[in-house]
Amino acid sequence: MAGILAQQLPEQALQFAYLVSGIMFIQGLRDMTHPRTATRGNLISSGGMFLAVAVTILWFEILTPAILAAGLLIGGVVGAYLAVAVETTEMPQLVGLFNGFGGGASAVVAGAELVDVLAGSGDLGVGLTASAAIAAIIGSVTFSGSFVASGKLHGIVGESPVSTNVGHALKVTFLGVALVAGAVLVVQPSLFGGVPTAEWVPVYWVIVAAALLLGVFLVVPIGGADMPVVISLLNSYSGLAAATTGFVLNNTVLIIAGTLVGAAGMILTIIMCESMNRSLANVFFGGLGGDDTAEEMEDIYEGQITETSPEEVTMLLETAERVVIVPGYGMAVAQAQHAVAELVDLLEDSGVDVEFGIHPVAGRMPGHMNALLAEADVPYDKMRELEEVNPTFSQTDLVIVTGANDVVNPRANEDDDSPIAGMPILNVEDARHVVVNKRSLSPGFSGIANPLFARDNTSMLFGDAKASMQSLVNEYKESNS
Ligand code: NDP
Repeated sequence: MAGILAQQLPEQALQFAYLVSGIMFIQGLRDMTHPRTATRGNLISSGGMFLAVAVTILWFEILTPAILAAGLLIGGVVGAYLAVAVETTEMPQLVGLFNGFGGGASAVVAGAELVDVLAGSGDLGVGLTASAAIAAIIGSVTFSGSFVASGKLHGIVGESPVSTNVGHALKVTFLGVALVAGAVLVVQPSLFGGVPTAEWVPVYWVIVAAALLLGVFLVVPIGGADMPVVISLLNSYSGLAAATTGFVLNNTVLIIAGTLVGAAGMILTIIMCESMNRSLANVFFGGLGGDDTAEEMEDIYEGQITETSPEEVTMLLETAERVVIVPGYGMAVAQAQHAVAELVDLLEDSGVDVEFGIHPVAGRMPGHMNALLAEADVPYDKMRELEEVNPTFSQTDLVIVTGANDVVNPRANEDDDSPIAGMPILNVEDARHVVVNKRSLSPGFSGIANPLFARDNTSMLFGDAKASMQSLVNEYKESNS
């Protein structure tokens, strides 16, 4: 049905608006590559999306105004609430849910278009049925897989990795059913002498059902700790599903936006895997680490651990000229970023050169540390990436590691059999002194002991990251008053 804009403007106006939206998406993504311009990038991309949605609604008159308003209101309120209420540590599961809805929407819209075409011209070309079948498979896998992934991160679905032959057989079966039903959907008009029939529409929903089950059985066996990588991959799938639905609808802006999301998600997945020195196959079928026994840990730590106190660390800070702070997952859990930022301000006021060493997979999602530190107003130019900061440790007087473990574990370089072998790490032990702040000697995500804690130049400041950083702030203030 022609909407208000279509009655007044030529077709080219719609394509031009879509082109502008596409350019805004690309410019937005470009801006998001740097923290300083990321907020602007977000706004430009959102503007592009608003333009695309508004033009589409006004051009095609898809729904009655009342239904449209109700949808916009409900979606807008839920989105705004989630954006404000969700903690930064819960962001990966929120992104997971968004991916799931994106994939589900693509599958439903492609199915609706099939029904619509059959009710109208009935002209089901191979391009349309093939795109719809692909959108149904990818979109449905994304929908159910993302919900399981979010549930695992949220602790609602069991987090431990499970791998059974029955599970593998079911995956193959559901994939087979989805592919066969997809093939039937594509060839069915020719089976019936070129006349498509509405009776074949249920085949589409068979594809959806099989792919939904496939998504569940693909993600359930993967350990909770690997979920950020899975969510990043599903993010890429949600983009691919949207792009194929763009082909179903013959909608340029959906093809552009979907392809951008698909490519960006895939690049992020590859970066995460490389930063952990793991293959995607290992994430999906391998599971990570967790194999050091209490005795093995005892062997590394016994008699080798030097405990320190906020007073002693303050004395080291008093004489230091250069300090590097290495944050990790524990800083996020403790929400210690504001105390850390306060300490940095105090040190800088005393003329100390302070920087942050940020590992690409510190925390549980890409950019986790940067986002938390930015929230505490730490300037971006203080956050140094692994390649930049590693050569500077040998000229550093003191490294404070707070809530990080695997990303500073020298076993990545020394032990070929360890689960983190080959993972690039921050070489903090090259500094004159290293203070590691965590609550105990418990391992991190990889489940293995860390010989850094037993090094001669390392001392352990045991305690919650927020409380410990606050103690350092108080001690430093006192000794400088
Ligand atoms: P780790 O998981 O290796 O270690 C975090 C440490 O924080 C723990 O050893 C824990 O020790 C400590 N901790 C927890 N709570 C607190 C607290 N309240 N106060 C102080 N310390 C605390 O984290 P890293 O950041 O070093 O490494 C990230 C790991 O996650 C890597 O193995 C990476 O591969 C993996 N990963 C990262 C992803 C990403 O995108 N960033 C995605 C998937 C995996 P204790 O209990 O003794 O306090």
